[in-house]
Amino acid sequence: MVKTYFDEPPKTKWNVLSLGAGVQSSTLALMAAKGEVTPMPDFAIFADTQSEPESVYKWLDWLEKQLPFPVYRVTNGDLKAETLKIRTKTKSIYGDGIPYLRTLIPVYGLLKNGEVKPALGRSCTADFKVAPILKEIRKLCGIKRGQKEVTVTQWIGISYDEMQRMKLPSNKWTQHRWVLVEKKMTRSHCKEWLKRNGFPEPPRSACYFCPFHDNDEWRRLKTDDPDHFKKAVEFDKTYRKLQNENPGGFNIEVYLHKSCKPLDQVDFSNEEDRGQLGFDFQSECEGMCGL
Ligand code: SF4
Repeated sequence: MVKTYFDEPPKTKWNVLSLGAGVQSSTLALMAAKGEVTPMPDFAIFADTQSEPESVYKWLDWLEKQLPFPVYRVTNGDLKAETLKIRTKTKSIYGDGIPYLRTLIPVYGLLKNGEVKPALGRSCTADFKVAPILKEIRKLCGIKRGQKEVTVTQWIGISYDEMQRMKLPSNKWTQHRWVLVEKKMTRSHCKEWLKRNGFPEPPRSACYFCPFHDNDEWRRLKTDDPDHFKKAVEFDKTYRKLQNENPGGFNIEVYLHKSCKPLDQVDFSNEEDRGQLGFDFQSECEGMCGL
């Protein structure tokens, strides 16, 4: 039979679970713990952007205790701090020494003519999720420089309803496995499985300021976690201010919300302000952020 991404891939020496700590990857971890998926992962890795709400860290503390395999937490730094860091351009067409901010997260840009540039250049998933996870796997699994032999199967918690987020690995020594896709399990199926097995439902796992939040998620943050909503409002303001003061050659205003209104002025129930999820997220998130 021809193998497809929907089948279990060939066995490898190592099985590693990328744990985003949201509904899907948490379900996957607990299914493995109960022996409903084999083989047992050797370990799981959680990449910490240091910008998740407290509920996610609490959930992770709880989840670790349920699992028979270790969970390693890795980080590539504080995504919020790195986003707000003022950098200096060298060898730029605008000249050397020009201050600017990197567009690490998928912010929306408002041009002078009123045009909105959706989800401007973004590298947070690659730099703060994928890169630290791969670095740790290389270390723990003894991957040699230039290795071409596939020795690691990386389990990614993408569910059947989010198949468009599946991506092939960027290196030769890993193969990806999408167990929930193999089992045709959607996000709702994951929630049902958790309930059926007496587990609580995980919180949404994503940076509290993520511009890919849809309006329901922003509303939930505002109602259930006002402290983090307040921090997101502050972050939105500060980022725009710093970007305006240090444009680095770009004349663009940055916003966390697609409406290009300050976050505390958005009516999350207004249809005109809806539709945050864009194709960029669907195709690029790779299941590492548990949005
Ligand atoms: S949750 Fe959003 S901001 Fe955070 S790493 Fe993922 S895409 Fe970037």
